[in-house]
Amino acid sequence: MESEIIKFAERIEERKNSARAKLSILVYGIQDAPEIFSDLEGNFKEEHYAYDNGNWGISKSRLVPTEMLLPGDIIVKLHIRPDSPLTLTKEEGRIFVKNGTRYLTECMFLDRPIFWNYTTSRGTPTKNIAQLYGHSALNFNIFSGCEFHRIGKGCTFCSVRETVDKSSPIKKIKQTEELAETCELATKYDQFRYLIMTGGSYIDRNREFDRNVEILKSIRYKLPWNGQIKGNVSFLPPDDCTKLSVLAELQVENPSFNMEVWDKKNFLRICPGKEAYVGFDHIVESLIYLTGIYNKGMVWSNFVAGIIPLSDIKEGFKFMAEHGIVPGANIYHAEVGSSIGKSMGTIDENYIRDLYSYAAELYHKFGYKPYFDAAVLRNSLANEFYEELL
Ligand code: SF4
Repeated sequence: MESEIIKFAERIEERKNSARAKLSILVYGIQDAPEIFSDLEGNFKEEHYAYDNGNWGISKSRLVPTEMLLPGDIIVKLHIRPDSPLTLTKEEGRIFVKNGTRYLTECMFLDRPIFWNYTTSRGTPTKNIAQLYGHSALNFNIFSGCEFHRIGKGCTFCSVRETVDKSSPIKKIKQTEELAETCELATKYDQFRYLIMTGGSYIDRNREFDRNVEILKSIRYKLPWNGQIKGNVSFLPPDDCTKLSVLAELQVENPSFNMEVWDKKNFLRICPGKEAYVGFDHIVESLIYLTGIYNKGMVWSNFVAGIIPLSDIKEGFKFMAEHGIVPGANIYHAEVGSSIGKSMGTIDENYIRDLYSYAAELYHKFGYKPYFDAAVLRNSLANEFYEELL
């Protein structure tokens, strides 16, 4: 199966078509395909509902693929939406995405990570702790909960609390030792090029910072890069910016504090917990402080594309780029259980095109690279626009 996937991914001449299909899939989602999914059950990496859930009308106990691989090694997240014009069809053993009668692309589903077959020494299945994100990033969030939701101040687009409810096997609070063991198992059995380590947040941001540092120390030599943390560690900054130098000492390659939205008034409306307990200004100051420790283009800040006016998010991107920080964005998709829910409707394709074209322009102008690559960034088109596939 693995060699089949490699051959499939090498069909690079089809990357432009894959990028166009990815745009449609991210904007509209895809209708459920119960027969295809049940036929292949056990043979694909299933959605494991660790922090988000864009699958409308699907029981979390039913196995559905988490992502799709398109020709040319382009990964796209599968969000199941009953009202999407896009469907999946299986013909002569091959799976296609269609819009009405028109074929958009062929697709495959990724294999389950091998490390999911193992448990930690305490007997916890590693699937409850971490996953492979896209083709090649090991991913976990250290706290699958977020205290902002507990006090009614969760970000309005975020569904982490609802997603990781009583019916989810995901460990809400990961033990440091279990994370280290899981990293070791993933390194032993699977191939990945990056780590993505994220929150949720604690109301006490200093506690959140200390927790991140403790985990980084315990996992760095369990990963394949000789102590380096290749990839992204994302959390909220502590009170005292001078503490941030430890991130460089621990060889974190790309730290980020995610703004999500821009400007301050949008931030207050959409991220009330972050504003109340950390503050827009402090996050911006901390990002700028980090650029004094890291080279330009190594510090990241992610946004959500589609929930604020285009001019506002572009202004945020410009601010970041001009201050040595790489802006990026995931395309907003309606989350089951988020405050916004389905109220935003479908995000305008032109908004997406305009934003990522602008991002690509900034990356080229300042000599930055988009995050990771198109085989990892399943909810973003930053790489596809940067590579001029779109
Ligand atoms: S900080 Fe916001 S986006 Fe992050 S987990 Fe909490 S509510 Fe969700």
